[in-house]
Amino acid sequence: MRRIDLRKAQAARPNTIRDINRQIVLNYVREREPISRAEIARESALQRSTVSAIVDSLQTEGLIEEVGEGESTGGRPPTLLRLRTVGAIAIGVAVTPSRTTIATSDLAGRVLRQCDFATNPDPEQTFGRIIDCILNLKNGSIESIGVSLPGLVDPATGTAIYVPYFKWRDLPVAEMISSRTGLPVMIDNDANAVALAELWFGRPEVSDARDFILVLVAEGVGTGIVLDGQVYRGKRGAAGEFGHMIIGTHAPVACSCGNHDCWEAFSSEGAAVARYTKLSGIANDGSLGFRDLVDRALGGEPHARTALIDTALCLGVGISNLIVGFSPEAVVVGGEIARAWCLVEGALRDTIEHSVRRGLPSARILASTLGEQPTLMGALSLVLASKFAASFAA
Ligand SMILES: [Zn+2]
Repeated sequence: MRRIDLRKAQAARPNTIRDINRQIVLNYVREREPISRAEIARESALQRSTVSAIVDSLQTEGLIEEVGEGESTGGRPPTLLRLRTVGAIAIGVAVTPSRTTIATSDLAGRVLRQCDFATNPDPEQTFGRIIDCILNLKNGSIESIGVSLPGLVDPATGTAIYVPYFKWRDLPVAEMISSRTGLPVMIDNDANAVALAELWFGRPEVSDARDFILVLVAEGVGTGIVLDGQVYRGKRGAAGEFGHMIIGTHAPVACSCGNHDCWEAFSSEGAAVARYTKLSGIANDGSLGFRDLVDRALGGEPHARTALIDTALCLGVGISNLIVGFSPEAVVVGGEIARAWCLVEGALRDTIEHSVRRGLPSARILASTLGEQPTLMGALSLVLASKFAASFAA
């Protein structure tokens, strides 16, 4: 049983109950749309008059809308409700070591407008352009901005503690963007943000799991840990840095932290490309990227397939360690590698089968279905999830 945290708990004042009921109704509309007031009342066991009053206020706030009439069960046909689809509500900013993407989305997470550019190692340049893009995309209906960053982040203070690719330290990201755009800004580590996106927008096998681990394979390897339906953050929000756990020596590339023995150095996109160039003997001037490698592997090129499968074996070692430690319901693998799932799934499973849990029911290993821009979905989710999540504690 969860011990009540008296620093966070609120007694059940009438306001708290109203907030809880409001979030219940909003989430029924989100997950079961189109749905009628009567169905919400029946399924939630809330009184019909309570549901109607909450629906009125959610409509006034512009969060839900009426979408026509459903089937009559004898009397007047019921009016159906859905999330409001008109208009942008969130801006997401996904900073990755190579590119930065800024986009607007509606309440359901559909991307509406987008711009992107090559990330500049100079933070003033990169954040200057981010702010220009936001001012260009911003309109009156945008409520807040979510930012995902490839490094250690403190969401409570809005500070990037350390971004290893560019050696950014103690950068007040939320303050920099908020002061110029006038909008509230939420920031998080990229893998935590993608885990949040899986929790709220992933396929039901993932979003219905209370405990799962998201492994984001990109330039680096990051993990987001969801325990009991929320992202586990640890002290200063910096939990989940399993990319730097040591799984061997003499990795094909250096980790973003500089070491050659981190999980990331064995399992990142760069590690796979380094294996491929070594196997095939081609000189890579940097123009051949992980996307090309995946294309070649899917096209049947033997060296590309071997490089990808060897990388998946290393990825499996780390995932196996996480399963032994956390016993999650599922492990979700996100990033470009998910596109080659048919090639890597077997290697991941083989490694995991060899662990101490042999013979025990294991976590499901699933490819992310967030699409081609998981970190952008993560950044948007920082804003969107806050609309649907319970803001009350118990
Ligand atoms: Zn490292």
